[in-house]
Amino acid sequence: MKTDAFIGLGSNLENPAAQLARAVAELASMPGTVLVAQSPFYASRPVGPQDQPDFVNGAVWLSTELAPHTLLDHLQKIEQLHDRKRLRHWGPRTLDLDLLIFGAQTLDDERLTVPHPELPNRDFVLQPLLDLNPDITLPNGSPVAQLRQRCPDNHLRKLPPVARDPASPW
Ligand code: AMP
Repeated sequence: MKTDAFIGLGSNLENPAAQLARAVAELASMPGTVLVAQSPFYASRPVGPQDQPDFVNGAVWLSTELAPHTLLDHLQKIEQLHDRKRLRHWGPRTLDLDLLIFGAQTLDDERLTVPHPELPNRDFVLQPLLDLNPDITLPNGSPVAQLRQRCPDNHLRKLPPVARDPASPW
């Protein structure tokens, strides 16, 4: 059975837009998974400590046969491939991948809370979701468009599409 899964991507170190472009390709090559669509990328001010570079964020829509915890295992492996180091909570990072929405399922255990609990507070997550599907709703029926209207403003700036490097293996 295939499930529509929405993944949020963020980076603010080591050429963030290139980190995201590479991560999209890695997400698309997970087993049993196809990339349905990819959002534009946005620059935004960091949440938390301000003495760090701006973030680049985006989201992808996947159709996947993976179970949610297996999908999380893959997300964490991809983060590791990007030499992810977390120096402090809400600090700079090369790649952050969040499982935002997993079909109509809600999950809350020691590893996974879905929909992602910070989703309603982050315009840099809500806007890419709306770009992917303007009619998207959470499992509780809340329209993401309505959440976006109520969300604090993080100074989102839409970035031009990343030109693909023909020499890149991704
Ligand atoms: P962070 O890297 O700060 O996003 O947090 C990673 C931790 O959040 C991991 O230990 C995950 O098990 C946990 N987590 C809980 N819910 C989610 C989710 N929906 N997506 C990604 N990580 C999650």
